[in-house]
Amino acid sequence: MLFKKPRRKINRVFIHCSASDYPEHDNIEVIRQWHLARGFDDIGYHFFIQKNGNISKGRNLEKTPAAQKGHNVGTIAICLHGYHKEKFTQAQSKALQGICSYINKIYYERVSFHGHEEVVSKACPVLDYRAILKLDRYGSLGIAPSHYNRPPPPQKQFIKLRYGDSGEAVKRLQQLLRIKVTGRYRKQTLAKVKDFKRQQGLYPSGIVTMQVWKLLTKPILSHIPSTNTSDPKKLPNLKQGSRGSAVELLQRCLFIKVDGIYGPKVARAVKNFKARLGLYRSDVVNSYIWKLLLAQKAHRGQQPLFA
Ligand SMILES: [Zn+2]
Repeated sequence: MLFKKPRRKINRVFIHCSASDYPEHDNIEVIRQWHLARGFDDIGYHFFIQKNGNISKGRNLEKTPAAQKGHNVGTIAICLHGYHKEKFTQAQSKALQGICSYINKIYYERVSFHGHEEVVSKACPVLDYRAILKLDRYGSLGIAPSHYNRPPPPQKQFIKLRYGDSGEAVKRLQQLLRIKVTGRYRKQTLAKVKDFKRQQGLYPSGIVTMQVWKLLTKPILSHIPSTNTSDPKKLPNLKQGSRGSAVELLQRCLFIKVDGIYGPKVARAVKNFKARLGLYRSDVVNSYIWKLLLAQKAHRGQQPLFA
């Protein structure tokens, strides 16, 4: 079942958008990685609605979200993938109506619905949630009970795949392998899957198991050697303007000119590094980013990080 009433008290539901229209970010695992990189213990949102209307479960509902700073207690946080208003889909509106009316029903209409922008000075969500949910000025849901519909059952994100398969899961696989996204598991995909499994020390068959999905969604962490590298926790956080030996190490990890000064060129290299991993593009290097950088450094030359 998608929604089980948590033990903690709920009185408000907040709607967010992911601030991205990139199809490769239309995946709860990517958002989870962003939030982990920001130092959260898990994804901040409880639900994520993809462009196709699929609802994925995020953070455990028993846990308070990390989504609306200062306004997290007693809330449920829902995020829709998207950034430009016109690019949100009908399927997403339907899914949002479905899950909100369901929540409203099981709480006997004693919850209100809000946009993140009501408690923060930024446009989030970008879509017109008020119209979609027919909210009154108190945030009460205006969808008539006759329109209550159960949210669709969650689709399995990661299913076993083999040569000849097609569909959404194959598209996700191709995105993670960084090859052309066709949605059809044919020769090129097969070759890449085999290469990837070989690199991971697995038997190089074409079958994509749960273990393979895990390795694909955590491409770098799985490469981290346990010894012979500095401890990322002991390295300082860096950003543009930083100087010193840690910046030199950063430059060596990025394979760029080493001068110990964190200038715009270094910032660009850091942002590109993060973008390649689907992480939020900022110049900040924290212990999580250090871990990824050191892993890349340790492995460069032996095998590519991505097949
Ligand atoms: Zn938000």
